[in-house]
Amino acid sequence: MGQQIRKAHFDVVVLGGGVSGVTAAAAAAKNGRKVLLIEAGPMPGGELLSGMSIDGLLNARGEYVVGGISDELLDDCRAMDGFIGPIHDYRLICYVCVDPEVMKIAVVRLLARYGVTPWLYTLAEDVVVDGGRVTGLVAVNKNGRTLVTADYFLDCSGDGDLAVMAGAPYELGAPDGELQPLSLMFRMSNVENEPFLAFGRDNPESLAVGESDYIRAGRTDSQLAMELYKQGQPSLFFKSDGPFLRSAIENGELAPTALIMIMPTSVARKEVCVNTTRVAENIVGMDAAKVSATMSTLMEQVWGCVKFLKRKMPGFENAHFAGLAPRIGIRETRRIMGDYVLTLEDAVGASKHPDCVAKGAHHVDIHQDGLKQVRIAIGNGGSYDIPFQCLLPKGLDNVMVAGRCLSATREGMGTARTMGPCMAMGQAVGTAAAMCIDRGYRDVRQLAVGDLQMVLRDQGAVIDGVH
Ligand SMILES: Cc1cc2nc3c(=O)[nH]c(=O)nc-3n(C[C@H](O)[C@H](O)[C@H](O)COP(=O)(O)OP(=O)(O)OC[C@H]3O[C@@H](n4cnc5c(N)ncnc54)[C@H](O)[C@@H]3O)c2cc1C
Repeated sequence: MGQQIRKAHFDVVVLGGGVSGVTAAAAAAKNGRKVLLIEAGPMPGGELLSGMSIDGLLNARGEYVVGGISDELLDDCRAMDGFIGPIHDYRLICYVCVDPEVMKIAVVRLLARYGVTPWLYTLAEDVVVDGGRVTGLVAVNKNGRTLVTADYFLDCSGDGDLAVMAGAPYELGAPDGELQPLSLMFRMSNVENEPFLAFGRDNPESLAVGESDYIRAGRTDSQLAMELYKQGQPSLFFKSDGPFLRSAIENGELAPTALIMIMPTSVARKEVCVNTTRVAENIVGMDAAKVSATMSTLMEQVWGCVKFLKRKMPGFENAHFAGLAPRIGIRETRRIMGDYVLTLEDAVGASKHPDCVAKGAHHVDIHQDGLKQVRIAIGNGGSYDIPFQCLLPKGLDNVMVAGRCLSATREGMGTARTMGPCMAMGQAVGTAAAMCIDRGYRDVRQLAVGDLQMVLRDQGAVIDGVH
């Protein structure tokens, strides 16, 4: 196009301003490096802004298994009255709910606090590779093209774009092409808590509860529904094979779904997030045309569910539609193959690794089409370790990945993709990049994992000491 290419240099370039990219950028900058965060969209924070619960921060026993940068975000939400706190689903997990509107501010404050340079509305188009080293990334925005050089590149793009452009091997979905569905979250305000929770208490057969032996602990569905009632938070998950949803799906009132998951987003606004819509057509998340084409279906599913809840769900009679997530949610694309591949057995066995730099505690969670979803609990209410090697793409010296494009089998990714572990992985790679630059290491594998673990522990990360 005859355009002159601009040039810029940073110590660390982070691709992707979702949950893992934000934490990676903050961690690298907190540890003294000049950091550029590149994000295609208009706002950093990714799914932290969607209203969904933050899963995988705690194990099912209620112990925090992620800390550090995530605490900084949560503390700031708390200071702005946007922290609702840990909630138990009495099904499989404990999760944290926050106000996504407040989280928008907390994310930007976090980046500003450490002096991260954000480039929003900017797409990574290409990389320059020299042997196993990425030396530059071509970023495109309305200013034109910029060649950004850096010592370390962190791929937090969800899709593994940077690692793939640099030649890393990857896998995509299941061998038969199955990919998890796309979904769009929405929120409703002015929800009356008491009748809603009483409805759950009185209809335990419609709720998803007690799906792990650890949580069930010999209790009946009614007893677990009573625990949800006593917890007092507007958080109930209705299952598709329970009487309440089955009839609505059968008579076409609701689009087929595995669950309607309802969780709080704001006490002041009496607001909840609803996670239920889905387009399960094995759409590859990088295919912009196909993803965009789902918008209309998803919107109609949202509106159908709003009408259903207002008509049928006690406590929702006077509720208002309060907004949509900022973007269509993409659960699954590429998994970059690294020095270690996290497996189903690692996760459900709650296995521990000597080179742990992050932990996960969410069940293996693979949404499928229609009413189907794979949900496998982590053993004994515990957590599993994510080894540093899962973040090191094969054949690349100065590139790390974090977030849902980590090196994992489909099942391993099905649990580690939740936001808690994404934040822990982001913190790990950001910190590692800063340490490597400090020490003059050109290959991240020169960094002793013990040294990285020491710094991560000092900065609040959870590496050991939980179930
Ligand atoms: C519908 C849905 C429901 C979910 N439910 C929950 C839940 O309840 N709780 C939970 O904890 N987790 C949930 N998850 C999982 C979790 O939210 C995601 O896996 C996690 O947020 C992924 O974070 P990430 O940083 O790895 O990637 P992403 O959030 O995908 O962020 C990647 C970012 O990189 C940017 N990007 C990508 N490529 C480029 C490029 N070439 N140039 C510039 N920018 C680029 C994208 O715009 C994006 O913002 C859900 C996910 C979805 C989609």
